[in-house]
Amino acid sequence: MPTALDFSTCDREQIQYAGAIQPHGALLVLHEPALRIVQASANTGDYLGLPPAALLGQGIERLLGDEATAALRARLASLDLCGMLLHLMSVGTTARNERFHLFGNRADGLLLLEFERLDEPARTGAPDLYQEVHSTLQRLQAAPSLQEFLQLAVAEIRALTGFDRVMAYRFAADGSGEVIAESVAANRETYLGLHYPAADIPEPARRLFALSWLRHLPDVDYVPIPLVSAPTAQPADPVDLSYSFLRSVSVMYTGYLKNMGVKATLVTTLLKDGRLWGLISCHHAAPRYLPYETRVAVECLAHMVSLLMGAKETEEHYAYRLRLGAARGQLLDALLKTEACDRALLDAGPELLTAPHADGAALLSEDRLRLWGHTPTEAEVRALADWLATRQDPHFVSHQLALDYPPAERFRAVASGLLAVRLSPAAPDGLLWFRRELLQTLHWAGDPHKPVTIDDHDDEVRLLPRTSFALWKETVGGQAHPWLDCEIEHANELRQGILEFIIGHTEQLRRKNTELVQSNLELDTFAYAASHDLKEPLRGIHSIVQFLQDDDGDRLSDDGRQRLATILRLTHRMDDLIESLLQYSRVGRIELDLQLVDLNAVLLQTLEDLQPLLKKNAVQVRVQEALPRLQCDHVRVAEVLSNLISNAVKYNDKADRQVTIGCDATLDPPVIFVRDNGIGIAPKQFGRIFQIFRRLHGRDAYGGGAGAGLTITRKAIERHGGSIWVESVPGEGSTFRFTLARPR
Ligand code: ADP
Repeated sequence: MPTALDFSTCDREQIQYAGAIQPHGALLVLHEPALRIVQASANTGDYLGLPPAALLGQGIERLLGDEATAALRARLASLDLCGMLLHLMSVGTTARNERFHLFGNRADGLLLLEFERLDEPARTGAPDLYQEVHSTLQRLQAAPSLQEFLQLAVAEIRALTGFDRVMAYRFAADGSGEVIAESVAANRETYLGLHYPAADIPEPARRLFALSWLRHLPDVDYVPIPLVSAPTAQPADPVDLSYSFLRSVSVMYTGYLKNMGVKATLVTTLLKDGRLWGLISCHHAAPRYLPYETRVAVECLAHMVSLLMGAKETEEHYAYRLRLGAARGQLLDALLKTEACDRALLDAGPELLTAPHADGAALLSEDRLRLWGHTPTEAEVRALADWLATRQDPHFVSHQLALDYPPAERFRAVASGLLAVRLSPAAPDGLLWFRRELLQTLHWAGDPHKPVTIDDHDDEVRLLPRTSFALWKETVGGQAHPWLDCEIEHANELRQGILEFIIGHTEQLRRKNTELVQSNLELDTFAYAASHDLKEPLRGIHSIVQFLQDDDGDRLSDDGRQRLATILRLTHRMDDLIESLLQYSRVGRIELDLQLVDLNAVLLQTLEDLQPLLKKNAVQVRVQEALPRLQCDHVRVAEVLSNLISNAVKYNDKADRQVTIGCDATLDPPVIFVRDNGIGIAPKQFGRIFQIFRRLHGRDAYGGGAGAGLTITRKAIERHGGSIWVESVPGEGSTFRFTLARPR
């Protein structure tokens, strides 16, 4: 019965100890220094002219003759050969009139010699490999991007080898791979863009790929040739064939290739910084042997591609870094040109904010949230920012957000990736970049989660690799493209720049504020002095006009008396204005006498003082809630209440005038209000009523007034750190609300 099994079982297969070779060459294992043959591939009779029986236990001169053996000894003396297989020389044999390439490798104290025929059918139409490789390199160097570079490389290798499919295959961090470039014969389907699960290239094969540059399998259906040793000898230890060209390959591998309809392969390694980066894999639908010379050319190209590829990739990264740097520079420049940091960021084009290849971005600043592109909802972003604010780190990076922050599961489609920086140690203010889930379904060549089966008929356990090569779709759930180091760096540097700006800006604001306080004080002193000094001559004018009216009024014409009366009225008005100005400047200059005050007592006293006015107008006063006890200057607060209540009575034309006073103590600081059912104020006038000497009505309408009451009221409130605002519906009434402390 077939048993489910993960393909990685063959991770344990020791393929370097294959004990057999492929039939397109012969292999001898020798003891040094005697160069005595201890093992031979079973095909030496056919291939080299002397069967293993004639060679085992003999010196190598039995096969090569004395002259070639001497040359070989001289060559071996100068070479290390550990961890590599080198071309040593070309030789003939005593038994055959043929020439062979001879390769050597030393492993576990043994010398391995491999023979491959020199007269194999030469590659057609390739007179000068050097020229070809040279011109290929020139074209590769000119390729503008890594993608085009690899595309060119596979096309060149296909031209050189004549294989009908050449693919560049790149490994991801999890070991899976993707076909990122391909050159394929016109009649074959394309594998471009296919992903392969990690288990398709098992660990031992990966290790061997990293050890040698080139693997060639001329015929998938070959019959392995075993290595044999002398019948009398002790059973030999398995020979390590890690570096052998001829090593027999795993049945897993040939089975896999057969499933794909591949009869011959050539695989070269792409290394970057000494690490396996990918492969160039050549497939052919019929057996195909590549002579050594062509293989050398391909190997040389693979070396060059590896070197250039590193440079191209670095170049691309560098260009991207530059782009990020430019976006950052533009944002920070915009900051310098503006007063408000969030304004500059808000005004920045979305492309600047999404520069680190993000699908969306968010800016949270002083409780204002702005979103660009694909993001979670406003509430979700706020909750996320609150969570980020509980973390120590000023930055956060994830390409699987729901793992760190489970609520992100709900919005993983738009934000599986998050790169965030905090802009305030105290508030959740920050910049956030989002990346969508890789819902773009990847094209898997075979279901990576579908186990392979073991076919255990005949008691022989054989692994059967997946038989399906149809396109499978695998959703990479909850994952986004990981953030690159340079993107994280970009976010941190942007944060640094913004913080420096904010610190500089705060300092500037603090300085401006001190200057403003100083000049306000000077202005108040000036207003006080000016109004005080104006009072004196005004009083003079008033008395003279008064005398004139009393003493000489009879001698004046009606017009004259009328004019004197106008002068008197104007001096009264001017006196009112100067008095208001004095009061206003006094509120700005005097020290507040701050004490814990029961506002209910202050209100009671104020209502008492206003009794005549309230009575005269039959006002119904209601105190809705008890007022709090607050730290304040009770004289100023009494003036505030008095002013608001008398306005509530004054600007009221209803028959039943009502004034309600109350407080919302659940707020911090508590908000006190004075409400009336009077004439109301149009919303567009809300700002004007707090300006000095501004009235919304004719001079004498609604009992007249200097138009300074609310300005003085506001100043008194602001001196306490509080603020005042109004809500109103014209014709229905107004509510003035105020606080007496700074918001916390
Ligand atoms: P004054 O009452 O001396 O005119 P204020 O500064 O107290 O000056 O008020 C400025 C203006 O705001 C008033 O002239 C009036 O038009 C408007 N105003 C103030 N309080 C009220 C209110 N409760 N209802 C309607 N209008 C008001």
